[in-house]
Order: sequence, then C-alpha cells, then structure tokens
Amino acid sequence: MAKGPGRTEGRTEGGRYDVLVVGAGTAGTYLAWRLAEQGYSVMVVERDARPDIGRRLDIFHLDSIRFAQFGVPEPDPDSDELLAVYSDGRAVSPDGRRAKLAEYGFHVMRLPLFLKRLHSLAEGAGAFIVDGCAVREPLIEGGSVVGVRAEKGGEGVEYRARLTVDASGTAAVLRTALPPSLGVETFRLGPEDVLYVVLRYIRWAHPRALRPRGLNLWPLHKVFCNPGYSDEEAILGVGQPGSYDRAEQALEEASAREREVVRDLEASDRSAAAGARAQGIRGIAEEARRLARQEVPRIAAGLPAEAGMIAHFFVFFLVPSGWAAWVAARRAIGTR
Ligand SMILES: Cc1cc2nc3c(=O)[nH]c(=O)nc-3n(C[C@H](O)[C@H](O)[C@H](O)COP(=O)(O)OP(=O)(O)OC[C@H]3O[C@@H](n4cnc5c(N)ncnc54)[C@H](O)[C@@H]3O)c2cc1C
Repeated sequence: MAKGPGRTEGRTEGGRYDVLVVGAGTAGTYLAWRLAEQGYSVMVVERDARPDIGRRLDIFHLDSIRFAQFGVPEPDPDSDELLAVYSDGRAVSPDGRRAKLAEYGFHVMRLPLFLKRLHSLAEGAGAFIVDGCAVREPLIEGGSVVGVRAEKGGEGVEYRARLTVDASGTAAVLRTALPPSLGVETFRLGPEDVLYVVLRYIRWAHPRALRPRGLNLWPLHKVFCNPGYSDEEAILGVGQPGSYDRAEQALEEASAREREVVRDLEASDRSAAAGARAQGIRGIAEEARRLARQEVPRIAAGLPAEAGMIAHFFVFFLVPSGWAAWVAARRAIGTR
C-alpha cells in the first residue's frame, strides 16, 4: 500500500483503510491525526453531525503544559475557541478550610471549536472523517475484527480496515459487542461506575464580590466552581455515581456544608482574609441554591467514579486519552 501524508484524500467511503477509528472526540481525532501524519490511511466514523461534535460539553479546562507535551498548537488568542488563560488552580479540602494551590496554568476553551481545529489537523494530514454515521457493531470475519457495520442516512454501510479502534468514549460501542473468544473485556459501565454530572453555567449575581478565582475543586464532594464564558460567569458542577438525583442531592448537601463553613469562619476568625474567603464561599453557595430551583440542562458524564476522587481529574483527561490510544494503535499496527 502506498504511504505518504494526504494520500487518503478523495478515497471512497467503501475503501479499505489501514486504520478505522470510531468516534471523532478528542481521543479518536488525536489518534487519527498522528497516524495520518505517520503515513497510514485513516478513516474516522462519527455518530454526530460536525457542528454537534463536542457540544455536549461546551467549555472545558486544559492544563497549558499539555499543548507542548502533546504537540497540539495553542489556540489563536483572538479566536472564539480560547476564553481565558489562568496561572493557577486550587483543590479545597472537603471541610472547605484548606486550599492547595496548584501552580500550573490552564486554558479555558470551547470544546466544539477545539475539536473543529483538531479535525482540520487530522484532515490536513490525510485522515478522512465521516460524520452523521452511527456504528452499530464490529464486523468479524475468520475470528478477527475487520471493520464495522454502521448506519448513515438510514442506510446500512460497512467499513473495513486492517485495524479498528474503538474511541467512542463510554459508549464503547465495539468493545462491548466483541465475542468472548477474542479475550477482550466486554463489560458495560453501570450506573455506579460513572459519574452523573450536573453542570450549571451561571452569571454571578454580584460580579465584583470576592470569591475563589480559577479552578476550584472540592474533591470529596466532587463539586467544582470553574471559570465560564467570562469573569462574571462560572460553571458550578457536581458529579455523583448512581443517578442525576444523587448529584442534585450532593449539590444541595455541599451548599449546606458551605453555609456551615461560612458561619464557623465568621465566628472564629475576623481577619480580612477569612472574611474574603467566607464571602467567596457564600457567593457560591447562594448561587447554587438559587440555581437549584431552575430547570437546567444536564450532562451525562462518562467518567469512572473513582476519577472524581482525584482533585484535578478533568484537566488530565482530554489529550492524554488520545495519546494513550495513539501509542496502543502504533504498537498494534507496527511503528514506522
Ligand atoms: C461534565 C464533564 C466535564 C468535563 N470537563 C473536562 C475538562 O474541563 N477538561 C478535560 O480535559 N476533560 C473534561 N472532561 C472529560 C472529557 O470530556 C473526556 O475525558 C473526553 O471527552 C474523553 O474523550 P473521548 O474522545 O475518549 O470520548 P468522547 O469525548 O466521549 O468522544 C466519543 C465520540 O464518539 C462518538 N460516538 C459514540 N458512539 C458512537 C457510535 N456508535 N458511532 C460513531 N460514533 C460514536 C461520540 O459522538 C463522540 O464524539 C469532562 C467530562 C465531563 C462529563
């Protein structure tokens, strides 16, 4: 098979590729980009239509060091993709009394636009992305996975490749459908294995009041208050295994706990720093209570439950997942 970046452009959807990647999220797209750069012919099949990819989670936060680490170009500072760059973040202890400063910068970005740029990089390297195409099952011949069966525009289609990669996130559409004879884990994630995350994109009622700045995580509550579209906005979130109802309940409990912390702080410490912190905590708790009464969009989280126990769980996820997939795929099809 001829090799060289760009050689897959113009291929028909029925062709046989070196690598077929299911899912054009961060992991699948990063993998496709890197493999196409290496000269492999790569096809990516994505269920969502292009403009919807990544919209499930609009704003995300990424460690600034990851761009250099994974060779991803930084976003243009004037683009809509980049909202802000912060120099540090904090993990707050469950009782709210201590905060550990993490002195690394992080970018606040819009996932659909970041993905759009990654898609361009992958396509520029020669990968072929098909959107609006839902993969249904692996295609198995002679005891090996040789591609997938999918549905596009109401029609059944088949795609074939030397290596098929499941990058469909927690849906794990291929892995869970493999026959036991292949020796691959086929378990499905149950409600207790994932975090159900309730996110609230808020505008502060009192934008100039003092409050914790940057990334703020209350690890054991799995509650976070992170930068939103501007300094006057924020994202309040809470994740719990089991159900959305549990997440809602945890948000209420965390708010109540924060009310106690504010009371204790005010009673025990009259210093300006304690006052400022109390005001910040109260601001978050008030917003959480106010918003708890509103109807808000909810996002199903595909995070392993234990990930929530790690203070900075989400900033490490996006690019490293693509990196890990890339390393595994190169091992499987041989490095060049
Ligand atoms: C509430 C929340 C907040 C988060 N915040 C951050 C953050 O700030 N920073 C960060 O780095 N990470 C964050 N994460 C984690 C991050 O979203 C995930 O780690 C990351 O999306 C995983 O990437 P992925 O490509 O493996 O999977 P996904 O992003 O889930 O991508 C999978 C893709 O596969 C497609 N797909 C699924 N089924 C099929 C099918 N049958 N056929 C074809 N295509 C299919 C999907 O449409 C999707 O595009 C957050 C997660 C949640 C839930």
